[in-house]
Amino acid sequence: LERTFIAIKPDGVQRGLIAEIVSRFERKGFKLVAIKIVVPSKEFAQKHYHDLKERPFFNGLCDFLSSGPVVAMVWEGEGVIKYGRKLIGATDPQKSEPGTIRGDLAVVVGRNIIHGSDGPETAKDEIALWFSPSELV
Ligand code: ATP
Ligand code: MG
Repeated sequence: LERTFIAIKPDGVQRGLIAEIVSRFERKGFKLVAIKIVVPSKEFAQKHYHDLKERPFFNGLCDFLSSGPVVAMVWEGEGVIKYGRKLIGATDPQKSEPGTIRGDLAVVVGRNIIHGSDGPETAKDEIALWFSPSELV
């Protein structure tokens, strides 16, 4: 079955949105197969966002991801990669539809509270980066 990597970023954790976010994925019918809370190092954040290393906001983004606790999760279900992105909403919360996580709960792109893998390859890579196989049920 398809799996994706979802992370609640430090702003989402700090704002007390863990239960709200987990609940949206659960109510949809997706299955939680791994979860942990970690403070990633800056080096780890750079690995996670390596695709964006040429972007002007890369350094600030990695500083931010490593600035506090992150809830790292793996969710499973038919179509979960694509539909998970739909639940999350557009990258810029100003453009996310109401009803989506970012649309309902965030305002600015640099504080958009949640990450979701953007395709099957990145899902596989990100799950392997954040979790060891024994942490997945
Ligand atoms: P994520 O990978 O976090 O799920 P995404 O796939 O919607 O988000 P990406 O293009 O992968 O968007 O960008 C990764 C993250 O970089 C965004 O979630 C956002 O926090 C940050 N980001 C993207 N564009 C900008 C920007 N123009 N200015 C500042 N931060 C940005
Ligand atoms: Mg992305």
